Amino acid sequence: MPEPAPLILRVAVPSPLRRLFDYLVPPELAEKTPASALQPGCRVTVAFGRREVTGLIIEHSDSSEFAMSKLKPIGQLIDSEPLLPPSLFKLFVWASRYYQHPIGDALFSTLPVLLRKGERPTAQGQKCWQLSTLGKGLGPESLKQARQQRALIDALRTEQIISDERLLEQFSRGIISQLKQKSLIESLVRAEPQIASQNMLKQDHLALNSSQQQAIDRIDHHSFNCSLLDGVTGSGKTEIYLQCIEKALRYERQTLVLIPEINLTPQTEKRFRDRFNVPIVTLHSGLSDKQRLSAWMQARDGTAKIILGTRSAIFTPLKAPGLIILDEEHDQSYKQQEGFRYSARDLAVIRAQQENMPIILGSATPSLESLNNCHNGRYQHLILSARAGNSIQPSWQLIDLKSERSNAGIAASTMAAISDTINHKQQVLVFLNRRGFAPALLCHQCGWTAQCHSCDSRLTVHRARDRLICHHCDFQQRIARQCPSCQSRQLVAAGEGTERSEAFLQQHFPNTKVLRVDRDSTRKKGAMQEVFDIADSGEPCILIGTQMLAKGHHFENVTLVAVLDADSGLFSPDFRSHERMGQLLTQVAGRSGRGNVPGRVFVQTHQPDHPLLELLIAHGYSHFADQLLPQRQLTQLPPFRYMAVIRAESERAESAEGFLRLARKIAESLLPANQALGYLGPLPAIMEKRAGRFRYLLQIDADERATLGPLLSAVATQLENHKDSRRVRWSIDVDPQEL
Ligand code: ADP
Ligand code: ZN
Ligand code: ZN
Repeated sequence: MPEPAPLILRVAVPSPLRRLFDYLVPPELAEKTPASALQPGCRVTVAFGRREVTGLIIEHSDSSEFAMSKLKPIGQLIDSEPLLPPSLFKLFVWASRYYQHPIGDALFSTLPVLLRKGERPTAQGQKCWQLSTLGKGLGPESLKQARQQRALIDALRTEQIISDERLLEQFSRGIISQLKQKSLIESLVRAEPQIASQNMLKQDHLALNSSQQQAIDRIDHHSFNCSLLDGVTGSGKTEIYLQCIEKALRYERQTLVLIPEINLTPQTEKRFRDRFNVPIVTLHSGLSDKQRLSAWMQARDGTAKIILGTRSAIFTPLKAPGLIILDEEHDQSYKQQEGFRYSARDLAVIRAQQENMPIILGSATPSLESLNNCHNGRYQHLILSARAGNSIQPSWQLIDLKSERSNAGIAASTMAAISDTINHKQQVLVFLNRRGFAPALLCHQCGWTAQCHSCDSRLTVHRARDRLICHHCDFQQRIARQCPSCQSRQLVAAGEGTERSEAFLQQHFPNTKVLRVDRDSTRKKGAMQEVFDIADSGEPCILIGTQMLAKGHHFENVTLVAVLDADSGLFSPDFRSHERMGQLLTQVAGRSGRGNVPGRVFVQTHQPDHPLLELLIAHGYSHFADQLLPQRQLTQLPPFRYMAVIRAESERAESAEGFLRLARKIAESLLPANQALGYLGPLPAIMEKRAGRFRYLLQIDADERATLGPLLSAVATQLENHKDSRRVRWSIDVDPQEL
């Protein structure tokens, strides 16, 4: 009898190489190992170079391109059964092929760190806290001096049981330990809680209006279907999400909810927690490694019923997948822009299909891609065209900057409207997409401007910190007092940033709070919450900030939104710039008049006659998008053509460009350009030099996805083996969002 062929495992390891590595299972190990521990999706330790690393079994094989004698045996088996459910594993395989990214790196860059390090997941109850008998008896006057401790006691009194993880979002570990030492609170481990369906809701759901009802009726919970929930801000999309989740819960299924940024939208999380009496986990960048693993495990073992997270949460395993909701589907943060360049939105649709569940993509300003998918019948288009509560849509006004004097970027009529709003005890939101004091420092005598040495970019003046800062590479220096070119002392900060407008407004409204929200002002932990608290209190104030302010937050008492500069979006070279401008303006405008008083939106521009601005303002985003789509078709751009770019960067421009010429030559030798396939480049990136490196790209577009994928894989393999590939940093970006 011939000897049985030895088992060869093809293993993914954390490595940038686009391939798997073969290892042997020695017969004696195979014999005493249960088959489940050798299945795809299980981790093993293997020798890799001189190190021992954690790898993941991808597939079995009975042959290898290498001689058997050269193959090394695997080290230890870590898991007794696959770490990832097969369906999620399939998603990784799909994503690594589609996005042309090595599967090892795709897996290991998205798994919780502790799993990458080989930690064994233990079945999790959830660690929770409750009041002890002593704590329950605590009088209302006790602990008055210790505000945090008191607040924690009160929180537990209201909610009875709160998970450790969630308490830590509000309180420090120290506060929790102090109360534990005083025996006022005690911990317990809650196993997968059985939630009787009548106790599932903490608060009743709202009675839906008829458009909400029609929308919800079209979502089938028994199989895959993708809905684009296209509803103006305040039209009741979140209420639909909540009621769909409720349905999923009744079927004993979990819901995965993706949102662009959790820190900016604490209200969203709160609405979910206020509605449901079920375990909810949130995955965001602020978690410790342990908390992340714990949340991941609770999703995998079914303890968590609702999983709320940002982009990478799309890779969370679910025991009983029932529904995916992806809010603000147009948001750019769903696309990872480095390393494994996946789109969480597109993967969410693939995942819903593979796991046979419904998915809802929601937005007030849907992407042209998704709108097109409605037109061609792949998604169903659910439209909510009116606001749900009593509030009505805000009215728009264009302010012509050419014909009005302005100060610190604020035109006289905008100033008057701000004043008027504050006098009526309402709030104002001022939007300017440039942080810092001024975008340039220039010499009045000779015209010199402060430039970054490493980037094609000017340095931004940050007056409060007395610094010139490059917003692209973070280079910093003190603000020069003298022109280095002509020695003149007449240096002026030119142009407007949030910091300058803030200073100007504060000077004009000395008795009103002016609150700045941008990456600088919110660096301190809790700073954002402080702003939200003041705004939520309803007192008249002026909020000024970058697009952080445009995202999702619901300010009841804001009745005036002022956009200081609408022009930058009109003239960018990126083909998506008009779409983005329309989305941003509509989103910012949607912050106005969400309460009972109708809102106003002032848009300042030098181009009040620009047809796109007029269209947007007169007819709204959906007409605007309807005009943009045919233009994309005419110019053969996404979503009508599939696009990928190969990028290269190097300290020497010639190396980056030369490498992409090579890439193009290889590609053309495999598939010459024709009607269905085009090449463009190598071209310099829109910002050619950044952080000391020159950046180039080669654009490839095709009228079928199926053409692009195999071509890119073949090119990637050849490039990877080419000696020049070591001289540049290069990557492939499929469905790029930025050029
Ligand atoms: P969106 O998510 O589209 O911005 P929300 O779901 O936040 O909209 O709803 C906007 C406001 O309208 C909220 O205050 C919400 O409570 C209220 N609302 C939503 N649906 C209804 C409804 N059917 N009846 C009454 N009020 C509703
Ligand atoms: Zn000068
Ligand atoms: Zn720079």
